[in-house]
Amino acid sequence: HFITFEGGEGAGKSTQIRLLAQRLEKAGLETLVTREPGGSPGAEIIRHLLLAGVGRAIGGAEAEALLFAAARDDHVRTLIQPALDRGVWVLCDRFYDSTRVYQGRLGDVSPGMLNALQDVTIGTMKPDLTVILDVPVEIGLARAAVRRGSDAPDRFESENIDFHRRLRDAYRQIARAEPERCVLVDAHAEPKVVADRIWLTVQERLLQ
Ligand code: C5P
Repeated sequence: HFITFEGGEGAGKSTQIRLLAQRLEKAGLETLVTREPGGSPGAEIIRHLLLAGVGRAIGGAEAEALLFAAARDDHVRTLIQPALDRGVWVLCDRFYDSTRVYQGRLGDVSPGMLNALQDVTIGTMKPDLTVILDVPVEIGLARAAVRRGSDAPDRFESENIDFHRRLRDAYRQIARAEPERCVLVDAHAEPKVVADRIWLTVQERLLQ
């Protein structure tokens, strides 16, 4: 099974992925935790370029989208698909909904280009479940700032508050539009409470 986690800055994706992986492992299910951009050695190199703002610097939003796509292509081909073929549960921190939201809804990349890139990188493959972690923008940004400490914000974290509000709306719309694939989870609560809610959904939808 393939489960993706989505949400804005500081929504708690990595914590929740770790907690779900622990529960799956405890249930005797082999689990792989990975992330985008990155996840495979080749894609991690591209991640560094993206977070440093190289995509933007060399050719704007479209060059950046191409780098995200190149990273995803490598990640799916070398890591995700082989694991799924072996029957492993794959939990991925961000996937194509991030592209639709960041590069599409909030970026300047056309739906035509995004569809073409999606065809090339993942074809018809899609997550069995997408967990969208929803948290008020101010709380998410405060959590992200604590995590970052004295490091400078990366190219994406430095966007203004309005950007993050639109981001949250875009994710909520995806959750409404695709209820069979997505679940919107209130991520404001304690990590343990959020984890219980996610585990219930996984049991109901994927472990029956
Ligand atoms: O998940 P994480 O916060 O580590 O993602 C790295 C950065 O890349 C984030 O700031 C996110 O906003 C950005 N991103 C993006 N488009 C994607 C995936 C991630 O702008 N498709």
